[in-house]
Amino acid sequence: MKVLIFLLIIFVTACISAAVICFLRTLLMPTRKSDYRPEFTERGMEKERAEQYARKLSAMVCYDTTSYPFSDQHPEQLQVERFLGYHKVLEELFPLVHRHLEKVEISGSLLYCWKGRASDQPIVLMGHQDVVPVEGASWGSVPGYKASEGETDQTREDKTPPYIPAETALRPKPDQAEPVQEDGDEKTNVSDNSEQSAPGSDGGWIRPPFSGEIADGRVWGRGSVDTKCSCMAFFQAVEELLREGFVPAQDVYLSSSCTEEWGGPGCQAIIDELGRRGVRPWLVCDEGGGIYTDPMPGIRGNFAMIGVGEKGRANVRFVARGKGGHASTPQKNSPIARLAAFVCDVEKHSPFRSSMEPPTRAMLEALAPSASFPIRLILQNLWLFRRPIELVTPRINGQAAAMLGTTITFTMASGSDAVNVFPQEATLGANMRFVHHQDMKESLEIISRIASRYGLETEVVQGAACTGKVDFKGRAFRYIEETVEKTFPGCVTSPYILTAATDAAFYDAVCDNCIRFAPVIYGPEEKKGIHGVNEALPYDCLPGAVDFFKNLVIGLEGQEELSRMPGT
Ligand SMILES: [Zn+2]
Repeated sequence: MKVLIFLLIIFVTACISAAVICFLRTLLMPTRKSDYRPEFTERGMEKERAEQYARKLSAMVCYDTTSYPFSDQHPEQLQVERFLGYHKVLEELFPLVHRHLEKVEISGSLLYCWKGRASDQPIVLMGHQDVVPVEGASWGSVPGYKASEGETDQTREDKTPPYIPAETALRPKPDQAEPVQEDGDEKTNVSDNSEQSAPGSDGGWIRPPFSGEIADGRVWGRGSVDTKCSCMAFFQAVEELLREGFVPAQDVYLSSSCTEEWGGPGCQAIIDELGRRGVRPWLVCDEGGGIYTDPMPGIRGNFAMIGVGEKGRANVRFVARGKGGHASTPQKNSPIARLAAFVCDVEKHSPFRSSMEPPTRAMLEALAPSASFPIRLILQNLWLFRRPIELVTPRINGQAAAMLGTTITFTMASGSDAVNVFPQEATLGANMRFVHHQDMKESLEIISRIASRYGLETEVVQGAACTGKVDFKGRAFRYIEETVEKTFPGCVTSPYILTAATDAAFYDAVCDNCIRFAPVIYGPEEKKGIHGVNEALPYDCLPGAVDFFKNLVIGLEGQEELSRMPGT
């Protein structure tokens, strides 16, 4: 008994000491505001610049560059022709770029080469030309997808749902809110990133999606945020530097595919072209991260979230088979009952391991000084709270679950065609996102093992493993941070793992430093607009975006020496 009391006293003393240490550490550690705001004075130059850039972005948005997987309905040739038209817009907006840079056009995708004084550490500035359809459908076709055995390109395409053309998508029929596959028994809608709800009868757009209207301080329309803004910014940065007669220290490439939104072949074709020229980029800067407003609960301000890797993803179908029959004679363990039990099991007890990977830990530590006190108390004492965070937060917060582990979200279900008939086959659709510590293969094995316990078959419709993982302590990441600090004073930087897919994933094979960072400000409204309705970008952030790319190119001077130093 005495021993028990003694142990209890030790335990309580340890708890109190830990609490006091945490409290004192938090009190003593400096706090930091991330208070960067665009300077946007009514009379100042910035306003004039911002309006000039807004007009350029507007002209780019006005040209509909919706892309679709190639099919009879959307033949490649027609789409390429459309992009050739868009290239004329670019030529008009950025004449010096088109006069001085070597341009290569590959089936609508673009590569520009700006010769620098050296070619040994070239950089690539990236952004895609294409946009998702107005309704926000996307297809879950993801870079790096490997067909499962026996699956051909044709069968893979067959699983891709058809798309509603932009013009008709403006006024969808009420039952046409989500595009679904038409071929009978395979009603697979594999939408990826289309978290937005379907628009109403007017499409939900308060301004026509390809109007490019400039109103209320924003440029409105599909592509304004994703991602014609960053394309405009790097084209404009090069245009202005050319006007000044600037010659970059290293070769600079501009890379812009026209098939990003469905993981098509455009980006790979550009990389093949670079490969033929023997070019291996030192740094790639694509979309993906950005300057995020209020990135987490309890953390306020604009933070530069610099993407260093992407979660993997898969669209998975679970199939339960039954004998069919009339509903008047009930059966036990029916297909729908098994699917329901499976969903409840997985939702109640996540089978995936929750773990704080180094970039996630670095992100939390970077954001911590800017957090409110209770959040800071936890984030600045990860030596104590790391494990509780890993164990508890995924159960109560979806964002935490996505950061710390593989996730699965059940999104679709189908059963019998009539209410009084047992289904011979019932299906469930799910979207999975993998983390680096439990990647696609392991996560799929876990989920299919559980599914088989309920008599379900597991089919992977589409999938891609995690990509990238830039060394966030390396020279290239530091260079991006320095450029952010120079361009956006007061903006805190942090590494960040994306849950969405970008074309940069293609570049991971040929470049160790594929950074995902578009230098524009994404508030909650802008994030909602990506692949959703009423996409619009406040244009006061455009001068900063142009300056970021200018600084990125100008700062290459001296980078080659630094990167050759030991330990960098
Ligand atoms: Zn995009």
